Amino acid sequence: MIAENLDGAIARIEQARLEVSGHHIVKIVAISKYSTSKEIEELFSAGQRAFGENKVQDLTKKQEELEALPIEWHFVGSLQKNKINHLLKCTPSLIHSIDSLELALEIDKRCDKRHDALLQINSALEETKSGVHPESAIDIYQEIEERCNNLKLIGIMTIGAHTDDHKTIKKSFETTKKIYDSLQKNGAKILSMGMSSDFEVAIKCGSNMVRLGSTLFK
Ligand SMILES: *Cc1c(COP(=O)(O)O)cnc(C)c1O
Repeated sequence: MIAENLDGAIARIEQARLEVSGHHIVKIVAISKYSTSKEIEELFSAGQRAFGENKVQDLTKKQEELEALPIEWHFVGSLQKNKINHLLKCTPSLIHSIDSLELALEIDKRCDKRHDALLQINSALEETKSGVHPESAIDIYQEIEERCNNLKLIGIMTIGAHTDDHKTIKKSFETTKKIYDSLQKNGAKILSMGMSSDFEVAIKCGSNMVRLGSTLFK
């Protein structure tokens, strides 16, 4: 069942990426926040290796329960300062959700080895969403690069506009892609955008990492 969901998602990703280019590779991060460790195991058996959680507590618990599996863990949620140490202990392979210069500095202060991360952009300009304003994104990205020694930005992340209007969603992805393009000279190589409801649009707009939850674990 879960394996079929994965096959279905891969087939849809394949179509979308080929519209961009045969060389355009897209990575799937399975977002397991509403799933049990047993379901994660099932998806792992189907071949999925990267999983993401949005709460430090859940990440810690699932890492413990699934200790035996070589899973690549990602963190995608908004991070409170008092949870930074706990998160760093989990050594996630990628933190998708650096949403301010202040948070970046705070994390950097507490880590003693390299941690890869993405700067989150509030591309839909929604008050309920975290992330830096698109207009200040490049400056903040560069300032984090200059001031952080161990926290390394390797790209950006966004959550598409929360609406059924295709044009508005696409616009938020295009805004983010433009920022990504300017940051490629800074070494940005990951553009994390697209979730279950909008990953095909996101890929066509240039995303190379999609975060899929409900479509995989339905
Ligand atoms: C939950 C979540 C996802 C996955 O959402 P689905 O719509 O279930 O695919 C992706 N990214 C973030 C940041 C999330 O919190």
